[in-house]
Order: sequence, then structure tokens, then C-alpha cells
Amino acid sequence: MTEKLLEVKDLRVQFPTGDGIVKAVDGVSFSLDAGERLGVVGESGSGKSVTFLALMGLLDRKAANVTGQILFRGQDLLKLRPDEFRRIRGSEIGMVFQDPMSSLHPLYKVGKQIAEAIQAHEDVTAKDAFTRAIDMLDRVGIPRPEDRAKQYPHEFSGGMRQRAMIAMGLCLSPDLLIADEPTTALDVTVQAQILDLIDRMRDEFQTAVIMITHDLGVVAEHTDRVQVMYAGKIVEAGTIDHIYHGAHHPYTWGLMQSISRLDEEQERLKPIKGAPPSLIFVPSGCSFHPRCPYVMDVCKTEVPPLEEEEYGHASACHLTLEEKKRIFASQVEVRT
Ligand code: SF4
Repeated sequence: MTEKLLEVKDLRVQFPTGDGIVKAVDGVSFSLDAGERLGVVGESGSGKSVTFLALMGLLDRKAANVTGQILFRGQDLLKLRPDEFRRIRGSEIGMVFQDPMSSLHPLYKVGKQIAEAIQAHEDVTAKDAFTRAIDMLDRVGIPRPEDRAKQYPHEFSGGMRQRAMIAMGLCLSPDLLIADEPTTALDVTVQAQILDLIDRMRDEFQTAVIMITHDLGVVAEHTDRVQVMYAGKIVEAGTIDHIYHGAHHPYTWGLMQSISRLDEEQERLKPIKGAPPSLIFVPSGCSFHPRCPYVMDVCKTEVPPLEEEEYGHASACHLTLEEKKRIFASQVEVRT
């Protein structure tokens, strides 16, 4: 039986503000097996990044009210003290962010930073840690790693910095790598190289990967399962096959229509109308209803639960399964 690496149960993250309570994450539950690749997709403000900041213990505990359970190998991370969390972060959970400069210290040489990350968790000499740092830089495809290790982050290109971040994220062979928009700031060619590198590293280190992105195209190629988030909730979850060949939620359909494909004319892209809602004044019923082309009366008053409709495929929408299938099929016809 596959081992459950991560189980998130009814996670809620709220930020009290002068204007009201921001419900950034509103009852999110999911799990991840060892070695699995999960894509988490949604627009800004969908709660996807906040969910994983909670998981990494990076939310300010004074500003955020976090409830629920985050079980990592059965241990509830929300019950850990900050110093215990720090031990797990880095050694068992690695991270790669959109902006490497937020994680790489500008005043320390890259090799030294990776070596210090190793020494913070393992009893090794500075010399051995530095040798391992050079080896990691080599493995992530940085040329002349001995020389590069002695340079500062600003001497690296954007793509090189992201490679260095991946080296840092994986230097302790964590069981889970969380990559939050890891390629958004990079040009298309470098993006593809970095995503391929994450795939290769995942195979080499047998690391589970959670890829957080606004781009369904990225998850299609680089993950096994997808979770779509909207207004702090998961609105659809399934395998890549489920989502690409039979998505059930109107929001997912909207995301799919807004993906740019190299083989399609740009004018065929249709952005989702309207904007994501305020997380203080979330619309009643289905929070997507003000933007949904298929809205019904019930959608305005009743929150649709996230329900499994077919094996491993769940969505939160009041349309019947037959209606979802019929609408998806008609959209595919229009696209082809
Ligand atoms: Fe649209 Fe209603 Fe489904 Fe929400 S529940 S996505 S408003 S059809």
C-alpha cells in the first residue's frame, strides 16, 4: 500500500483585519502519497499559496488564525513549536519560490548558503558541506559549479538563481518539495528547463512535489493530479486525465479556456469574466456564482459540497453530472 505522506484536514486560515475577517483558506482537505506530484491551480487570492505557507509554518502566528490538521507522516505540524517546525522545514520539506531572491541571501555566496542549510540539519564539517553544495549545483545543471559556488546571487542569471534555489530545496533530500510559481518570472525557454529539472530531480530523489501555479498548462505536463482552488476552497480535484478530458467545474472550464496554447490563435483565448471575490465579503452560496455562466437560483444560497462523482474525481458544483459532461463535451467541440 502507498504511504500517505501528507494529510490536510479541514484547514482554515483567517486573518482578522480592521475591515473584517479575511478567510484565505476555508476548509481545505486533501492528501498526498509519497513520491506523488500534485498541481494546485487557481488565480491570485484563491488561497493556494496561503495553504502551503501554513504547511511550511511560514505564516505569522500572531496575524493568522490557523485551524484544522496538517499531518505529515502522521505528525500534526500545526502542533509543533516554531523551532520544531524549522527542523522539518528544509530537511523533510523543501521549498522553491517564484522569487529566489526572497530565499537566497544577497550578501552570502551561493555555495556557502547551501552548505549552511546542510550544516543546520546535519552534523557535517563545513568543508564536507561545501563539497556537497558544489555537487548539488552540478546536479541542477549549473556549469563550473566550483566557481559558481563562490559567487553571490546577483552574479547569477534568473534561471541560474532558480536552479540554485532548487539545489537548496533538495540538498537534504526532503520527502516533499513545495514549488510556488517556480517559473513565473522566467522566460518561456528557461521555464521549460526549470520544470524539466524539477521532474528529473523528483525522479532522482523520489521526492513528492506540490506545484502551485496559476497555469493549468504547467500542471498538465508536470503533475499527476490537480486540485483547483477558488476563494479559499478546493472546487475540483482529479487526475490530469480527469481534468483535461472531462473537467466538471465551470471555474476549471474557464481556466482551460484561458490557457494559451502554441497551436492556437491568441484571439481564441477567453479570460474568465469578472474578478476573484473579496475574501472578507465572500459571495453567498457558491462563491463562483457572480462569474458563472451556468448559475442557477440554488447556487446563490447553497454552498455546493466537494463531492466525489467518479472514482478519484470530485467537484463542488450544483450542476448534475450529466449536465457537466454535456457542457464539457460541447466546449471541446467548439475548441476543436
Ligand atoms: Fe456555477 Fe452554480 Fe456550479 Fe457554482 S454551483 S459553479 S454557480 S453552476
